[in-house]
Amino acid sequence: MTSWLESQFSLNGKKALVTGSSKGIGAAIAQALAHAGADIVLVGRTKESLEATKSAIVNIGRKVELVLCDVSSPDAIKEAFAGIADLKVDILINNAGSISRAPAAETEMQDWNRIIDTNLNSVFQISQACGRAMIVQGSGTIVNIASLLSFQGGINVPAYTASKHGVAGITKALANEWGSRGVTVNAIAPGYISTDNTAALRADVDRNASILARIPIGRWGNPEDIAAVAVFLASPAARYINGEVLTVDGGWMGR
Ligand code: NDP
Repeated sequence: MTSWLESQFSLNGKKALVTGSSKGIGAAIAQALAHAGADIVLVGRTKESLEATKSAIVNIGRKVELVLCDVSSPDAIKEAFAGIADLKVDILINNAGSISRAPAAETEMQDWNRIIDTNLNSVFQISQACGRAMIVQGSGTIVNIASLLSFQGGINVPAYTASKHGVAGITKALANEWGSRGVTVNAIAPGYISTDNTAALRADVDRNASILARIPIGRWGNPEDIAAVAVFLASPAARYINGEVLTVDGGWMGR
């Protein structure tokens, strides 16, 4: 018999696709969704880069499929996601993302475009591909990984900031269109999470201290802090949440 708790939070029988699942937040989300009962489709640039996450999910006892794709390329996404309807994905996590640090006055357009393609255009294109199939299925849920820079300007990361403001916008736009078709769309805005993406900040002693001083919980977040929230947003318990950008930041935005 299914308990109330299981009926609200279990992902048994679901299939979740996670982009950027080779490491960091994406790898943690893929494993957490597997622990909650979902089979997983890992999306990454190479088979080798996904090996560790794949093994972890097999050890958890769930099935794994791989989709190889460089999400900075619209053509690569088109090709890799052409058969997505056949995979019958219930949960899409748009997590893949990249950052480039340079003052606005010195930012090269090539860098700007790479970040916008990777962090923003891919979110729309992959959501569109999966969302079309979810609309036909009559159900699905999408969780985008936004950022505190969906709300704030940041320092020396103008393209990243623009891309993440865009992710918050897409989240609400798609939620408005697809909520009545059985598909909810939300985002998580992580605070400062200890991954490769933020290694440069932790290596800068002064910057690290100023970041820590503003976090009421008093520590950097870890990928598992975000993964637990992704499980919640993907679960039946979150069925009436739609178009939300949920900050998970140890209290940073409250300061
Ligand atoms: P990591 O650098 O640890 O991981 C990034 C992931 O995205 C990797 O799996 C990487 O794959 C993948 N990726 C990057 N570019 C591409 C590409 N062109 N095609 C396919 N995959 C790609 O960073 P995080 O785990 O920290 O970041 C995950 C998400 O969380 C990002 O969207 C980031 O912006 C967001 N975020 C992170 C925060 C933090 O404090 N860490 C704060 C707020 C948001 P590969 O192994 O091939 O490089």
